[in-house]
Amino acid sequence: MDIIRDIFQFVPLPFLVAWWVIAAISAYLFVSGVRKHVHAWRLGRPEKIAGSSLSRLSRLVSTGLAQSKVLNKKYNGIMHVLISIIGFLLLLGMFFPILEAIVGYLALLFGAGLILLEYKRLKPTGQKLETAWEDTYVYLVIVAMAVSGFLMMGVDTWAWQSPVGSVLSPLFLTLGAKALVEIYPTLWLIHSALVFSLIAYIPNSRLIHLTTSPLNTYYTPITVKGELSTPFDLKQMMETGNFDVKVGAAEINDFTWRQKLSFDACTLCVRCTDACPATASGTKLSPMHLILKLKNYELYPHSDRRLHGDVIDPEELWACTTCRACVQECPVLIHHVEAIYDMRRHLMAEGKVDRKKRDLITSLSTVGNPYGLPTADRMKWAEGLDVKLWGQEPDQEFLYWVGCAGSYDMRNQKVSRALVKIMKSAGVRFGVLGNEERCNCEVARRVGEEGRFQQTAMEIVEMMNKRGVKKIVTQCPHCFNTLKNEYPRFGGKFEVLHHTQLIAKLMREGKLKLKEGDGRIVAFHDPCYLGRYNDEYDAPRNTIRTISGGKLVELPRHRTKSFCCGGGGGNAWYSVEATKKPSVIRIEEAQKVGPNILAAACPYCISMFEDAAKVLGTSESMPIKDVAELVAEAIE
Ligand code: SF4
Ligand code: SF4
Repeated sequence: MDIIRDIFQFVPLPFLVAWWVIAAISAYLFVSGVRKHVHAWRLGRPEKIAGSSLSRLSRLVSTGLAQSKVLNKKYNGIMHVLISIIGFLLLLGMFFPILEAIVGYLALLFGAGLILLEYKRLKPTGQKLETAWEDTYVYLVIVAMAVSGFLMMGVDTWAWQSPVGSVLSPLFLTLGAKALVEIYPTLWLIHSALVFSLIAYIPNSRLIHLTTSPLNTYYTPITVKGELSTPFDLKQMMETGNFDVKVGAAEINDFTWRQKLSFDACTLCVRCTDACPATASGTKLSPMHLILKLKNYELYPHSDRRLHGDVIDPEELWACTTCRACVQECPVLIHHVEAIYDMRRHLMAEGKVDRKKRDLITSLSTVGNPYGLPTADRMKWAEGLDVKLWGQEPDQEFLYWVGCAGSYDMRNQKVSRALVKIMKSAGVRFGVLGNEERCNCEVARRVGEEGRFQQTAMEIVEMMNKRGVKKIVTQCPHCFNTLKNEYPRFGGKFEVLHHTQLIAKLMREGKLKLKEGDGRIVAFHDPCYLGRYNDEYDAPRNTIRTISGGKLVELPRHRTKSFCCGGGGGNAWYSVEATKKPSVIRIEEAQKVGPNILAAACPYCISMFEDAAKVLGTSESMPIKDVAELVAEAIE
């Protein structure tokens, strides 16, 4: 038996000629369409892709080809696999008889996939799928392909092997052998023409993602999740005296070729937009539409339309809380936030920012905190607590990095005091920097002021290295992320713990004597920079389970799906137009679970939720507590 089936054996010459002509036209249209995309990517800036080729290849197999992230959502995942992978096998089945028996059954699953797709198109959940006319066209072509494929199975000499073929075959046999010999080539040509028309259409439609999505999963760099890219090296610039650098993305070609490829990889699945707190709160930002606008602009640039203002509204960029939900959800590894940072950097470099953002940077530069409060007041939170300065006692193990909110914000000062109580109770030897501490400028970096960030990072690292700091604990996930993931690039190699990690460790070691759980039900909100950025989900949960006597309940969206409080990415320091704040949405969501306490582990979350609780009148019925406060209350 031939391994490759002779599909041309019953086909007359004119049909064969027509087939080759259609195939050639299809190949030409496909190749010229693909060239247009590749040309657009190559206009981007150069980029050396981080991470070994082997690791990226294995990710291509798991994420790009096996579609592991697509399957995270059951309905969409199953639908997509039925249509894409099985559809591909069906095509192979045209050529390989060994597959035909299997293909007969797979074809049924393919049909099921098409039905699921149609149901999804008619009854979308979450944000509606984009259903442009091209989607309808593609859908109809695929359905026609499936129908003509089924009919061919009925006429085929291998019909007995497939379930559909064996049902249709007796019907066709009633027409007689002569008719079958005439029907088969016609069906075959129609089926082939449909397949070729789809192939030709791929580069000009959303189906381009069949090629760009796997490519993107290969080319996406392997980096530390919590570390932003470094657009320039300030130290090197100061040493060489050369400050001639273009910061951020002023134009579409200021993105790198890899970023431009990634915009082209969007499947329009809407997962990012469905997860986005900025979209949910009615701002102008929808991550999927942002990516699509960039994609269309890179393919069809127009000299009359500028990237900033005409294509992307600055409000979209400032509405992003950098929560990473979009990146987490994206099945093809598109990095929306990276593109947003690049555009923010340009706006900041050009001074195209409002008064609040300018004031924020000024405060960070002059008094070293975003509140604009005096440096001399930094230790007021610790009055009466006998908190030692770093170096004041021998054998101090941890530097307690209090953070600006823990130092200046009255609500979060309570958390700092609770943590001091815990550490003292457990015998942790720690000290603070006192007035020498200042903002690590995480927020400056997130709003696009890279120079301010790098300058501060270098100064703080130098100071802490001189002072012999080795281990740091902090209650702020933003400080935690920056000190742990971003300062190493500037020479700061510290062991950094979030306070929930230290507390969990102290409890494991039996260093905290705690009262019995009082039976109050506690729900925990995962802060984005602790969870999605640093994969720490269990430490706070283990602690809450212990102190509440196992009364932890989960919010509907938790762990990787957690819904941002709305304070990250600088949003705590300026306002964007919104219909309902993310924090209000989150409190309403928590109310549905009905806990006695909503626990968090981040100063931004605590502040945002306290404000929302006041608006909704839930401050008494569902108080907001930091995990440290709950533990401090439970200490005997
Ligand atoms: S990071 Fe969060 S807020 Fe920003 S676009 Fe993504 S989901 Fe939306
Ligand atoms: S960016 Fe990613 S998650 Fe968002 S619609 Fe496109 S493919 Fe889906």
